[in-house]
Amino acid sequence: MAKKEQELKCSFCGRSESEVELLMPGMNGCICNECAERADQLAKEYLDKMYKTESSDIDIKSLPKPSEIKNFLDEYVIGQDDAKKYLSVAVYNHYKRLAQEKTEDDVEIEKSNIIIVGPTGTGKTLLAKTIAKLLKVPFAIVDATVLTEAGYVGEDIESLLTRLLQACDYNLKEAERGIVFIDEIDKIARKGDNPSITRDVSGEGVQQGLLKLLEGSVVNVPPQGGRKHPDQKMIPVDTKNILFICGGAFEGIERKIAQRLNTQVVGFGTDSKYRRLEQERLLHFVAPQDLRSFGLIPEIIGRLPVLTNLEPLDNNALRRILTEPKNAITKQYEKLFKMDDVKLVIESEVLDYIVAKAVEYKLGARGLRSLFETIMTEAMYKVPSSNAKEYTVTLEYAKEQLEKSNFEILKDTK
Ligand code: ADP
Repeated sequence: MAKKEQELKCSFCGRSESEVELLMPGMNGCICNECAERADQLAKEYLDKMYKTESSDIDIKSLPKPSEIKNFLDEYVIGQDDAKKYLSVAVYNHYKRLAQEKTEDDVEIEKSNIIIVGPTGTGKTLLAKTIAKLLKVPFAIVDATVLTEAGYVGEDIESLLTRLLQACDYNLKEAERGIVFIDEIDKIARKGDNPSITRDVSGEGVQQGLLKLLEGSVVNVPPQGGRKHPDQKMIPVDTKNILFICGGAFEGIERKIAQRLNTQVVGFGTDSKYRRLEQERLLHFVAPQDLRSFGLIPEIIGRLPVLTNLEPLDNNALRRILTEPKNAITKQYEKLFKMDDVKLVIESEVLDYIVAKAVEYKLGARGLRSLFETIMTEAMYKVPSSNAKEYTVTLEYAKEQLEKSNFEILKDTK
């Protein structure tokens, strides 16, 4: 005779079906409703501990207004008013979008990712870094050049978000409302205007991957970055509320703009002064179509609705960069000397000379610092062991230092 069917029991607490409200059968055992609840709680506690999931509230009233954000940027970045305005508004709206989750109407504010086009060394990264100082959300700067398609050497697209996770100590909820600045976005442009039917190694695949991040989806991010590894535990990050700011030099885009506007780029290959003037003027007219001709896929462009440009820096701007920003180069040297109780005086002609050399050698703003360093090394070597209470950098001294350095060899490069 068959044995009386055994009563089912919870495999965790051992109680039988009659002792609990619900007993759920599994493959090799059962779980009761109470043990299931407890398991759920334990899992949550574990995940919270692993990837802290709480986030602080954003109070829109206490946030800096766009004009205040721009004033802050003005303290560090010279010129670039248009880009500053766009960025200030974008950051402010980003906060608003984060605050909206608590309202109950049907209007959902969508994010407006940004793309900044501007010659190298005109302040794209500086703007991004300065914004980061003021932000109340996690912020990361990443470089698009480290990416390539799967199967080729390079990092996976998702690794762009690793930095963001690191910036907030792997607090997932915080990261999911952060801001990512992707530098050198132009480096993943498709080479050539025609979509290729053969396998693309020049960036389109990377752009498709990037699209996924920009439009908002849940992506698996390797916690340590780099390539995904089968054994690595991934962190699922929802990019819906992450704001992306992209920057790129888009070298040569003036020609695309000129083609579209049906004008010629006056002076290409002729007088470089005209070429500069013309480039400056044309960049103002940059439009989404030009990014497309440059090799960004339309879907990506569509996900970067705010397009702004940075101006090339003229002599006047370079001169101001030397002295005006809060941590201007001259201020830094003054501080260095002050630590030895020496007052540093830099003759105004020296600054003009440095600017003239930066322009002559085509070094732009980035070269100002190395020019300054070359000039100041001798003084910084001698002054601390002298008894001087004041040191004046004269034009004569500056010229002498630069001439005896090997800076001259830069003259013919580029
Ligand atoms: P890029 O546009 O290539 O990202 P960066 O922002 O890295 O250029 O600029 C390089 C350096 O030149 C900065 O660290 C800063 O010292 C200086 N610089 C460039 N543009 C400006 C600017 N508009 N105002 C002040 N400093 C600037």
